Amino acid sequence: MKKRIVVLGASGCIGQQTLDVIAQHPDLYELAGISVGHNIAFLEAFLKENPVENVCVIEEKDCESLRQRYPDIRFHCGQNGLDDIAALDNVDVLFNAIQGFDGLTPTLSAINKGTDVAIANKESLIAAGELVVRLAREKHVNLIPIDSEHSAIFQCMNGYDYADVKRLIITASGGAFRDLSREQLTSVTAADALKHPKWSMGNKITIDSASMMNKGFEIIEAHVLFDMPYEKIETVIHPESIIHSLVEFNDHSLLAEMAVADMRVAIQYALSYPRKIANSTQTLDLCKLGSLNFRPMDTRRFPLVDLAYQAGKKGGNMPAILNGANEVAVDSFLVGHCRFLDIEKINFAVCAKGEEIYKKDCELEDIVFANSWASQQAQTMIDELGR
Ligand code: MG
Repeated sequence: MKKRIVVLGASGCIGQQTLDVIAQHPDLYELAGISVGHNIAFLEAFLKENPVENVCVIEEKDCESLRQRYPDIRFHCGQNGLDDIAALDNVDVLFNAIQGFDGLTPTLSAINKGTDVAIANKESLIAAGELVVRLAREKHVNLIPIDSEHSAIFQCMNGYDYADVKRLIITASGGAFRDLSREQLTSVTAADALKHPKWSMGNKITIDSASMMNKGFEIIEAHVLFDMPYEKIETVIHPESIIHSLVEFNDHSLLAEMAVADMRVAIQYALSYPRKIANSTQTLDLCKLGSLNFRPMDTRRFPLVDLAYQAGKKGGNMPAILNGANEVAVDSFLVGHCRFLDIEKINFAVCAKGEEIYKKDCELEDIVFANSWASQQAQTMIDELGR
């Protein structure tokens, strides 16, 4: 039986790599639906070659005109459409590659339906991790990580007891500004950050990698996904991005997952789990590689890692507050409305102010409120900068 898969965020960087992996195994996987946001040109080019039963787009007007032109396809529209396509009948895996907070409700929708979720939408886990994991346990649904670090940990943990883990070690390539001083960081631009990403993952996450917010978020995600206390989660800079993370067990043995930095390895494992099947990525030549380097995370240079620990330990709606502030700050940096170090400033300030609305036990509406409250706070700060 082929696995039937719905891919959300199919036109994005991770989404396209997912379509590529699915296309490589027509004997194993079948596409039941995709969502493409606003990218209608991508959708139409895709539909020429690939029949899909269900498609979701954001705009009602796009939806109407597509319905006229493709009468055999079921079109879904907007946020409700995403929630619907995430909960279709007879789907084995929802692959959620939506970028941003909008990916949260489709994740919950699939879990409620009892569909396994391959989760590349980080915001679901950062902002609402406790909620998502609680619901997944209740519904006996698998949450399979796509992020290379969490996929690595997931693979290293396979068959082991979580109680035997001493610590998780998340590796960081260090991002575009790894070797810059605080002084130099004051004048970097979005173009500088986007130049040569180690991983091909989209603009927002490339900026998050450069500010190290991404590493902070990954600490929160690891806490949530592996039910691991923050004291047992560490990070280390590893410029080559060959080891994608490690698990140290109580006997002091370490397991690491290594491969060339290609997201399709993690994407495919999420679909083929627990099997490891052939793919078209490159093999890793250890002798050519020669050596691997590691150095400690410098949180004075990248204080957002500490902020993530604080927000994560605080729990409740605080990670959603950090996420909401950061989304707006990064979007503003990308269009030149704030400087690189303003991202940090805004995130710290909004989290501090967030104490006013802090809530420990949260339902979905609390998370949604906290995220949008924080976005507004960040927007106000950026407007005041007046760039
Ligand atoms: Mg990552």
